[in-house]
Amino acid sequence: MDRSQTKVLIEEVIKDLKQNNEFLEMDNLEERNKTLESAGEILKTTDKIIKSYVRVSRDVGNIERIPAYRVQHNNISGFYKGGIRFSEDVDESEVENLAILMTLKNALHGLPFGGAKGGVEINPRDYTDRELNLISKKYVQRFALNLGPTQDIPAPDLGTNERIIDWMVGEYKTIHPGQAYSGSFTGKSVENNGAKGRREATGIGTFLSYFYLLNEWFPEKRKDSEIRNEARSSQWETLEKLHTKFNEADPVDVAVQGFGNVGGVAALEAYNNAAAKHRVAAVSDQFVTLMNPEGLNVEKLLYYTRKHNRLPDTREQLREYKIEAEVKDPKDIISMDVDVMVFAAVEDQVTKENMKDIQADVLVEGANAPVSVEADLYLQEQGKIIIPDILANAGGVHVSYLEWKQSRVTEMYSKEEILEEMGSQMRSTLKQVFGEYFLSSEHTMRFTCYSIALRRLTSLLYKHGKLF
Ligand code: NAD
Repeated sequence: MDRSQTKVLIEEVIKDLKQNNEFLEMDNLEERNKTLESAGEILKTTDKIIKSYVRVSRDVGNIERIPAYRVQHNNISGFYKGGIRFSEDVDESEVENLAILMTLKNALHGLPFGGAKGGVEINPRDYTDRELNLISKKYVQRFALNLGPTQDIPAPDLGTNERIIDWMVGEYKTIHPGQAYSGSFTGKSVENNGAKGRREATGIGTFLSYFYLLNEWFPEKRKDSEIRNEARSSQWETLEKLHTKFNEADPVDVAVQGFGNVGGVAALEAYNNAAAKHRVAAVSDQFVTLMNPEGLNVEKLLYYTRKHNRLPDTREQLREYKIEAEVKDPKDIISMDVDVMVFAAVEDQVTKENMKDIQADVLVEGANAPVSVEADLYLQEQGKIIIPDILANAGGVHVSYLEWKQSRVTEMYSKEEILEEMGSQMRSTLKQVFGEYFLSSEHTMRFTCYSIALRRLTSLLYKHGKLF
């Protein structure tokens, strides 16, 4: 889903809110319409887009000039917040889209942050540690005036990690001596005042989003046939089918695309929930898909990946690590015959070109924007359930909030406290979205999430006197 699709969806939700008279009650209808339209205009546009360049001296002797971005979309619900990605696909339009998604995600989950995103146009695999350290510090130098614990708080994303964030915090502290610096970034290492559990949080939350639906929400709601929504009858049948399957000793088969921070952890959670009938049948990274219909050993795959920074992809490597798996092309994972497909890699994986190949019943967007709007609508018509990014991958920002809060109250939370709080906050939003989507909405689950987020943002804009 790209920037223009995100903006069109915002417009459609605003149009829908105009029909919903229970929201933003006002006597004058014309005035109310104008107010809602101006909220749409504000939220479709971006507060600030900063493009800069970082210069890095390469080990081979030349100096390279690399495009770098920080986009601050909207801060009506709190300080700007959003990750920094290092990827050769980074461009202004992608970073802006991701910043808009952050505003919506934080609003959907009731977090006191606005939305931002950053990016550096490099493939981090092509750079040495010294060069990456330099790029990270230069990034902070370029954007220093716009970042800070009560201004804009970045975190890791695709291609970045806690080591890079620690370097960035170090640079922030050098630039701002004597100032509070710990809350300037989240996703720091635990030794550097990071939150315990932050590394795993997005993957755990992504897993939880479909586990909660299949193992908790649906078994509870299916008892009550009165509450069903006609528009969702085919999704209800899909849930019945999966429920019957795993009650007949047949596990729910899961495939995970992307085996990094998000995908590796989501796969491990599914693997560790074998007792609740979840089985990981396939995983992939950008080089390979590994499949085993009897279930992959995710612990061994993670052990290999930690050592080599990628999945094994030859028979010799698999034999050496005693891993039973068939080796396939990285693209093959998308069309596999599994029950749940978790996307945890990059954008634009399911589009109108390949949407008819999808066999999974439940698609979970651990990554940002992997399913296009056309594919979302088409797959929903086929009875499939698509759990959208701003709902599924919020575990990280929930824990980021606790990490930021920790820096303000100067008190450290235990890993158990953090993961329990994140799980309870995620469950509360999942319950609200599933309730609206399955029991009353006629739209997609993404539309439902946008609607909840836009209601919150519009109310705040209105109460702050920004809408006339
Ligand atoms: P990561 O860099 O740790 O891992 C990315 C994984 O995807 C790697 O296994 C890589 O090999 C694979 N990959 C990259 N390009 C691919 C391609 N074209 N096809 C197939 N696989 C590919 O990144 P991450 O932090 O796990 O982030 C993954 C996604 O989740 C991104 O879309 C990111 O924006 C989103 N996300 C991450 C977080 C977080 O806390 N890390 C939070 C919210 C959303």
